[in-house]
Amino acid sequence: MNKYVKIIGSGFSSLSAACYLAKEGHEVTVYEKNDSLGGRARQLKKEGFTFDMGPSWYWMPDVFERFFADFDKKPSDYYELIKLSPAYRVYYGINDFITIADNLEEIVNTFESIEKGSGKVLKKFMADAKNNYDIAIKDLVYRPGVSPLELITLETAKKVGQFFSTISRDVRSKFKNERLIQILEFPVLFLGAKPSDTPSFYSFMNYADFGMGTWHPKTGMYDVVQAMVDLAKSLGVRFKTNANIEKLVVENKKVVALINNGEIEYADIVLSGADYHHTETLLDKKHRMYSEKYWNSRVFAPSSLLFYVGFNKKIENITHHALFFDVDFKQHAKDIYDQPKWPENPLFYANFPSITDNTAAPEGMESGFFLIPLAPGIEDSEALREEYFDKIISRFESLTQQKIKNNIIFKDSFCKNDFVNEYNSYKGNAYGMANTLLQTAFLRPKLKSKKVTNLYFTGQLTVPGPGVPPALISGKLVAELIKKHL
Ligand SMILES: Cc1cc2nc3c(=O)[nH]c(=O)nc-3n(C[C@H](O)[C@H](O)[C@H](O)COP(=O)(O)OP(=O)(O)OC[C@H]3O[C@@H](n4cnc5c(N)ncnc54)[C@H](O)[C@@H]3O)c2cc1C
Repeated sequence: MNKYVKIIGSGFSSLSAACYLAKEGHEVTVYEKNDSLGGRARQLKKEGFTFDMGPSWYWMPDVFERFFADFDKKPSDYYELIKLSPAYRVYYGINDFITIADNLEEIVNTFESIEKGSGKVLKKFMADAKNNYDIAIKDLVYRPGVSPLELITLETAKKVGQFFSTISRDVRSKFKNERLIQILEFPVLFLGAKPSDTPSFYSFMNYADFGMGTWHPKTGMYDVVQAMVDLAKSLGVRFKTNANIEKLVVENKKVVALINNGEIEYADIVLSGADYHHTETLLDKKHRMYSEKYWNSRVFAPSSLLFYVGFNKKIENITHHALFFDVDFKQHAKDIYDQPKWPENPLFYANFPSITDNTAAPEGMESGFFLIPLAPGIEDSEALREEYFDKIISRFESLTQQKIKNNIIFKDSFCKNDFVNEYNSYKGNAYGMANTLLQTAFLRPKLKSKKVTNLYFTGQLTVPGPGVPPALISGKLVAELIKKHL
């Protein structure tokens, strides 16, 4: 029987779930508190510049293909994908960088030129990483996290040891050069924890990186949001923006309605893709599954200080994606996870989408996005943001040997307080709850409430975890669970 399904939030996980549930014939409405759709992947358009506000690395294209195939569609029905070549560059000093090519063969040669013998080791490491990727995609990430038994298959049993070792230990046992080690540790940062706290099984992220490549939807990640919204609308999903859900009304252990800006909206099923912790605060305490103590004890992905910058000239000596690892990697990780504070010398990441997409900036100009990962819950002020902008722009100028400060014609920032105010994010986390060993699969917050029978959750705080591909998968998993329970 068709149901009235009300979805809170319009991030990738909500959009994914909305498509699957509408395909099942339900009456689906998505409520988004902000004035545009896409959640953390919203778009900022100012003074002729266009910025993806959050995600920028399009990895694991197979997951996107699988999503659209479930609706007899292909990504290319909606957007054009460009494989970035080179994939990215990592800076270690003044004009001192390693460029990561768009194919494994060249990356192997790069490794070999830096550490003798490491090319062969990398080939073997990548074969294992591919094997892990196949197992992860086939046996693990498409499981709803209901029971530990989901994880036990013939293939995963052989890999048990890799859940108890860490990426850091594994990489360090195989490679000696600190730069190569950092490059191999970088992909798991997307999972939100330190490489020394991330199980080595997650080397499948290295396959996603070197094996599958870094892609860019022609006019940015927002192309994917637009594609999913178009698909959802074609399936009958209704969208309400500026629709802040203030409360969930529960009667006899069922959500009967949600309060949208003071208006009552009746529901048969409620699914929240908003931050899990926030959604539970919309319930009376007795209906919540997890306590404040529980949330406080979890490892959250970092918050971030972001800058969206318009330059009135083209920037030199850069690639579309660039990582600045010219300072102490371990110290910055400590400042995020162990003794939270603003890092003295922050690592940072930058991207310049206008290198690939000429609609991202006016002709002859460049749009730049800068990101410094920070501890969740950290103090945030305008003065701190400015201090750190100055720090990284000065470093950028020195590392890439050019002056750009006087060429800034537009700048906007986004930091912890904005994550809290705009997305109701717990402690201002940028990308959810980390995938550590004790926060993987069935050990993550559940897709279905145990206290309120028709309340479900999706997104980066539940299974499978942070990132755009996992968000697409999360939406599918929760839609399947809802179908099973009807
Ligand atoms: C800066 C940054 C960089 C990133 N880089 C990458 C990357 O390169 N590649 C990658 O794969 N992933 C990346 N990620 C992670 C990825 O963007 C996220 O994991 C994913 O987009 C999360 O989707 P979601 O559906 O879980 O949640 P969200 O996108 O957070 O969606 C939740 C939505 O719920 C809404 N909401 C909250 N409360 C309410 C309420 N009460 N009523 C109505 N609506 C509400 C919010 O406004 C929001 O729109 C990045 C994230 C950030 C922030």
